[in-house]
Amino acid sequence: MKVALIGVGQAGGKVTERLARFDADMGFGAVRGALAVNSAKPDLQSLQVVDTQLIGADRVNGHGVGGDNELGTEIMQSDIQQVLGSLDGRVTSSAEGIFVVAGLGGGTGSGGAPVLVHHLQQVYDVPVYALGVLPGRNEGALYQANAGRSLKTIVREADATLLIDNDAWHEQGESVEGAFETINEKIARRVGLLFASGEAVEGVGESVVDSSEVINTLRSGGIATLGYASEIASDDSAENIRTAMTVSRQALLTGTSLPDATTADSALLVIAGDPEKIPRKGVEKSRRWLEDETGSMQVRGGDFPLESDRLGALVLLGGAERSARIQEFMERAREAKREQEREETDHVEQFSDDRLENLF
Ligand code: GDP
Repeated sequence: MKVALIGVGQAGGKVTERLARFDADMGFGAVRGALAVNSAKPDLQSLQVVDTQLIGADRVNGHGVGGDNELGTEIMQSDIQQVLGSLDGRVTSSAEGIFVVAGLGGGTGSGGAPVLVHHLQQVYDVPVYALGVLPGRNEGALYQANAGRSLKTIVREADATLLIDNDAWHEQGESVEGAFETINEKIARRVGLLFASGEAVEGVGESVVDSSEVINTLRSGGIATLGYASEIASDDSAENIRTAMTVSRQALLTGTSLPDATTADSALLVIAGDPEKIPRKGVEKSRRWLEDETGSMQVRGGDFPLESDRLGALVLLGGAERSARIQEFMERAREAKREQEREETDHVEQFSDDRLENLF
């Protein structure tokens, strides 16, 4: 699937850069253009391979918006023409979809990404998706509350929102901050493979997945998730059937970007590996298993021929918003918002019935 990427904010820029790099290093050519937009100049200066666009210079002078996502929204609204202008020539006619990438818990990305998606929808005919990073459980209340509002708005605006939970793809025991590098690397590989599936040049045949299957899976709208797992392939074909089943199960049950999201409206299973080793029977068996497990009648399946000694399974779910994990996150976000409001009123109350008089 040929895509144009626009990262908004710090996480958005870093993830976009990783994706563009992975796609170029692998020689896939699926990423057709990449731009990073931010109100913080130093964050843009740390990027090397993507083009950049500073916004809100008149309001925050390149210093960013802190965690103020309402300010992030305002700045994107004011400078939207500039951003759309810098996309000229980058969203080439070959892009089959646009992905707006952002951390949903911060300020610039959280507030700006939904606005950008809204405007892109007016300008471009191709689907506009969001790739959103959810704060981990241990990130503070401000992040949770920001992400709750941002998620609600971006789901309304985007054709689908692919969610990555910051708790999902880091190693046990690592702090979230220390794990950003690991997480970004995993996002780049997994989402990068998803973009590249359908772009395969070798082994083009009926069973090879193509980009319309990715687009059709995302047509369910709402929230999408992506799972991945891989194992060494064998020379024995019966063994490879078992491996295809194992990696497909792991991709959905333990390797997913949103833990515990297994109910979906649609799904796509891509088995990647050496075309000689991809077991037809294994792909079909795994696809049927995925139908049972997700409760979806719309489960597509296909191969992604790739030079590798491993067999990998990518599982894309569309319409996964009914998952318990999303309900739990939204509850956490609402609680964080209530907590913030309580704190604000507490401060006022503390001084309201004081016997001391105001100075003026
Ligand atoms: P912004 O620059 O104001 O948009 O704010 P950030 O992009 O820093 O957003 C903060 C949120 O994104 C928090 O939930 C962070 O945990 C997360 N975040 C920040 N940097 C990264 C990163 O490099 N990778 C990942 N996965 N998450 C990040």
